[in-house]
Formats: sequence, C-alpha cells, structure tokens
Amino acid sequence: MIEPEGALCKRSNLLEAAMLQVNSAAELLKLDPGIKKILMEPKRVLTVSIPIRMDDGTVEVFKGFRVQHNLTRGPAKGGIRYHPEVDMEEVTALAMLMTWKCAVVNIPYGGAKGGVICNPKLLSMGELERLTRRFTTEISIIIGPGKDIPAPDVYTNPQVMAWIMDTFSMEHGFSVPAVVTGKPIEIGGSQGRNEATGMGVVFATEEAASRLGMHLTGSRVAVQGYGNVGAVAADGLKNLGCIIVAVSDSRGGIYSAPGLDLGAVSRFKESTGSVMGFPGAKPITNEELITLDCDILVPAALGSVITMENAGQVRARLVSEGANGPTSFEADEILYKRGITVIPDILANAGGVVVSYFEWVQGLQNFYWTRDEVISQLRRRISDSFQDVFVLKEEYGVSMRTAAYLLALSRVAKAMSLRGLYP
Ligand code: NAD
Repeated sequence: MIEPEGALCKRSNLLEAAMLQVNSAAELLKLDPGIKKILMEPKRVLTVSIPIRMDDGTVEVFKGFRVQHNLTRGPAKGGIRYHPEVDMEEVTALAMLMTWKCAVVNIPYGGAKGGVICNPKLLSMGELERLTRRFTTEISIIIGPGKDIPAPDVYTNPQVMAWIMDTFSMEHGFSVPAVVTGKPIEIGGSQGRNEATGMGVVFATEEAASRLGMHLTGSRVAVQGYGNVGAVAADGLKNLGCIIVAVSDSRGGIYSAPGLDLGAVSRFKESTGSVMGFPGAKPITNEELITLDCDILVPAALGSVITMENAGQVRARLVSEGANGPTSFEADEILYKRGITVIPDILANAGGVVVSYFEWVQGLQNFYWTRDEVISQLRRRISDSFQDVFVLKEEYGVSMRTAAYLLALSRVAKAMSLRGLYP
C-alpha cells in the first residue's frame, strides 16, 4: 500500500481539476444546467465519530466520512482510505471521480469514497480492527450490497475488508460477502483482483499503441511507483515486448538503457524495501523519471506529478495514468497541444473497479469465476471502453480525457433524465 506522506493528491487540485473537466465536458455536451447543478454536489455526506478503546485502556475518538456522489446508475462504489490528512473535500472529489470512472467503463454503479482520519502506522492490529468494526457500524446505515459497496484504498487492505464484511454480516445475522470488494479470496474475493488495475493499464496502453501505430516491441517505458499498479503494469508491458528502462518508488528511481530485469528488481525491492541501489542501474530522481527519454510514461504512484512546470519537458509519446490524478488540468492542455496522448486515469486505471464489480457479481450469485475468465472479461471491458472514448475523441476533436468525461457525463445525464427528478 502507498506511503501516507506521498499518497494523496494535492486535494484542492484534485477537486478543482475534476470540476474544470466536468465544466468543459458539460459545455461541449450542452448539458442541461439542472443536471449539471445536481452533479456538482454529492448526493449524500455522512460524518461519523468513532470512539475506540486503545490498548492502554484510554478512549480515543476518530473522525470518519462516507460520501456518495451520485446513485443514478446503481449502488455507490468506492474505496475507504485511512490517512492522517484525509478530509471531506478530498473524499468528495474522489467520490465524484468514481462516478465518472464507473460510467466510462459502463458498470452499473455510482461513485462513493470513504475515509478515516488516522495514522494506521501508529495503531496496533487490535486498535485497527476495533476502529474498522466501529466505523463499519457507524456507516452501516448507508452501506450494503444494493446500496454502497466499499473497497480498499490508501492504507486499507483485504484484511480491513474482511473485518468490514464480518461486522456487517454479524449485524445482519448471516454472511453478506457482496457488501465489500477487495476481500481475501478465502471469504469471497475474486481471482485477479490484485493485478486488475495494473492489467487494465496494460490493456489500455495496448489499445492506445495500436491506434497510434506504435509498436510495443522495443518501446521504452518508464514507470513511476513500483507498487501494486506499477509493478504489474511494468511486467505486463514487458511481456508485450516493451523495454522497461526506469521504475521508482518513494525513495527514488533506477534507470537502465538496455532495460531492467524486473524479476531481479522485485526480489531486490522485497529484500531491501526499495528499488534504490539496484545493482547495475543508474539512480534517478522521481522528477527526472517524468521527463525521461522514453516512449511510454506510466505514472503509477501519486497525484499531481505532471504539472505546468514539467509538462513541456515530458518526452514520452504516450502517458498511461495508473495513478489517480497524476496530471494537472493545465499540464493536460500542454501535453495535448504537444501531441502527447494521455490515457486518462478514469479509463487507464479502471481495471480495479471493473474486477471489483466482477467480485460483487460473484458474491451476489455465490458462483466463482477462474482467473482466466476474470482477466478476459476485464480485457473486453477496457477495450470496449477505450473504443467508446476514442470515437468521441474523433467526433469532437478533443483529448482522450475530455472524451472520457464526455462519455461519463452523457451516460450519467441520460440515466438522470430517464429517471426524472424526484418527486
Ligand atoms: P502501492 O502502495 O502498492 O504502490 C505505490 C508505489 O508508489 C510504491 O512503490 C511507493 O513506494 C511509490 N511511491 C510513494 N510515494 C512516491 C513518490 N513520492 N514518488 C514515487 N513513488 C512513490 O499503491 P497502488 O495500489 O499501486 O496505487 C498507486 C496509484 O494507483 C495510486 O495513485 C492509487 O490511487 C492508484 N490506483 C490504485 C488502484 C488499485 O487497485 N490499487 C486502483 C485505481 C487507482
């Protein structure tokens, strides 16, 4: 899981970028002003206090949130993050992004996000479990398999999801696996969930390369963030013939012109805790990685790493956004004007939520798919969504990001107008 100090996007940037994108797509779509007004606000915001007995016997009270942005296309879906700096504005921005992400890949969900202000590194396992169980109880009035289905996010993991599932199930008197996704396989998690986001990045990159007439064999790739998303994406792209010239983590990056041996890099990171110091590779900074001479750049760590300041120096021809919000609104325009194709986060990293959807469906049916079934369905979803976005990009003469927002917004707006305004 990502380190807390680096994990969060600069939150004002995130909300601002999301709003600016929605505005420009709404204008192009000539969106009904009433619908736009509704979409600019979250549907439901819940703030809870979470009193916990700490290991030393004292009582500590934490604060948590669950925000549901829009539920027109289905139940709410989105992760829960535990972080000392998480706040309502950030959770709201991320909930909104989830609405667009689910709509782009056409899965029947609305967007949500949750957060608890805490530093999980300072909590014991027992404290973390009690915090999770009490938070689950507090938000249980709005979550459920048909209402809102949480998932892991920054500093939450399959174990936390298992506690949420167990708490909700205990309160209902029977097992309710479909209340969360990202669970351990042993209690109803899906095959392929761990690698889903990284594989989605690979499939989206493949689609983009074929539209650009780019040969992946021999293409040089730089990956920022050698974690869950970045390492899987790097490995998948290597299997397609790419040369992975650089990878990084929070301590810095490594570069090798002939290409890195990823198996050896992973073993090195596992034993030392970082890719830094990998023998035979040249150390580079995370800033240098962004502007490295390469063909494909995969930011898969933090938000706001491609900015007004460095967008002019990006040398890749294709940017595949594994991370959420790695490119600022202004940087996006600079890249577009420079002819650099950006596969936006709401498409490129949607593999995680797609397989979460598969996990939910499997949980509801008590019927489990093989990894091959999961990955081939994922590929189909990402390819179809890429094509849907690409068609709009050509039709409107806009960037892939604007086209993705056009697609998302039009799907949500259509559902809203069909359902009508209650009462
Ligand atoms: P992770 O914690 O597994 O990996 C993150 C990696 O980034 C780690 O290698 C970490 O060392 C590195 N990192 C941290 N700070 C950094 C810094 N300052 N500079 C460079 N690298 C740094 O997390 P993840 O699950 O791979 O998530 C990565 C990104 O992808 C996040 O933006 C996350 O929101 C996004 N994302 C993840 C998923 C998913 O399913 N995991 C889904 C959608 C989006």
